[in-house]
Amino acid sequence: MGIFIKKMDFKTDISFRKKTLEKLLDKILFYEDEIIACLHKDFKKPKLEAFLTETNFITSELKTTITNLHKWAKPKRVLPAFLNFPSSDKIYSEPYGNVLIISPWNYPFQLAMSPLIAAVAAGNSVTLKPSELTPNTSDIISKIIRETFEVAHVVAILGDVQIAQVLLKKRWDYIFFTGSVTVGKIIAKIAAENLTPVTLELGGKCPCIIDESANLKLAAKRIVWGKMLNAGQTCVAPDYLLVDNKVKENLVSYLKIEIEKAFGSNPELSQDFARIISLDSWLRLTSLLENQKILHGGQTNRPNLYVAPTIVDEPSLDSKIMKEEIFGPLLPILSYKNNQEMSTIIKGFEKPLALYVFSTINKNINFIISNFSYGGGCINDTIVHLINNRLPFGGVGHSGIGAYHGKLSFDIFSHKKSIVHKANWLDLPLRYAPYKNKFKFLKKLVF
Ligand code: NAD
Repeated sequence: MGIFIKKMDFKTDISFRKKTLEKLLDKILFYEDEIIACLHKDFKKPKLEAFLTETNFITSELKTTITNLHKWAKPKRVLPAFLNFPSSDKIYSEPYGNVLIISPWNYPFQLAMSPLIAAVAAGNSVTLKPSELTPNTSDIISKIIRETFEVAHVVAILGDVQIAQVLLKKRWDYIFFTGSVTVGKIIAKIAAENLTPVTLELGGKCPCIIDESANLKLAAKRIVWGKMLNAGQTCVAPDYLLVDNKVKENLVSYLKIEIEKAFGSNPELSQDFARIISLDSWLRLTSLLENQKILHGGQTNRPNLYVAPTIVDEPSLDSKIMKEEIFGPLLPILSYKNNQEMSTIIKGFEKPLALYVFSTINKNINFIISNFSYGGGCINDTIVHLINNRLPFGGVGHSGIGAYHGKLSFDIFSHKKSIVHKANWLDLPLRYAPYKNKFKFLKKLVF
């Protein structure tokens, strides 16, 4: 297959980058309704969710990037080292060159466009491979890119795993991957062959802890929102609940009330609840329900790829639903008696991408923040840490390598080149041989 992407040199032309990003913003705003319609065609993503988490997320990011680009890209002066006197020291942000971005299906517009914007802002050329599972959204992404960029600058290559593998055979200057842990490991291995730097935005099982002091009614509302957004197909959705056994019964009744309030007595009829992305995912999710005690929901409909918002009671840690990332609207609830029990469960898993705690006791909150390693999260809410682009978003351990959003996105696509510019009017003799008695003097000078 002849995929050849010519590298163009956009290194210094920040005005050009800004202009293309402005053009991209215009195109996205022009096609916004069509993008939202595509997301609905692909898996019935509700209009409001599509606007909030896809198009508006991206247009806001574009506006921030356009406004700040000159400031971010400017060489940063830093204080020179005393021993280098006289010098002027700067950090230059240099584009890596040719960047490959591989994106997933669950937020297909946001997760393709967000790294793309940053890579372009940082002066790179980009090859994007969006997900094959959202063909309508991938098509509109491709159309927007064709209408905005020269093909040698940014191009979308549509296709499945085989196409991704062909692209990965080429040598890239940077690879940005969002997807599963399994594929993340494949990407890391391939990148290692050329020592290509990578960002891996992966997944895992995100715990959500509710202690006895939590405001249960509000907790239930925020958990149901975060879990059922995109029908649970969100990398930072609460995967399972860990609730103090003293408040479990109350929490369960509030969760049931909140599910019904949001989606009615039959969520299959609700316009506000997405569908499962594919038959494979639907089969996987329904199999996770086998032999489980269901406290609420549990209905499924194969032709409609529907799985109801479902609460699963105390699954065994050895059961399939607790062995893999759920990535659907199934919410297992486990109770704990004390912190020791809760810690053992959390530490039995790889480090999660997100962790949530609902509590009003600072000691408990601090215990959780300081005892567990995880990408990021919220206290008394779910998912909303992603809204603040001043907070880095990324995983740790198996949930990912590297973080982005806001200025950090620009930074990850830029090599930071450190330059010391020495003056010639003075040349301190201290470092030059013969050293003679310079050692004693130097020791005194540096301390
Ligand atoms: P996936 O890993 O199956 O696929 C992601 C992309 O990789 C797709 O474009 C796909 O075509 C490509 N791909 C698949 N197999 C490949 C292979 N063998 N070699 C090269 N490329 C390959 O993930 P998905 O099902 O699209 O997305 C769901 C996963 O992504 C979940 O695990 C979720 O937690 C994670 N995710 C993470 C984030 C994050 O920001 N950390 C965001 C969204 C999704």
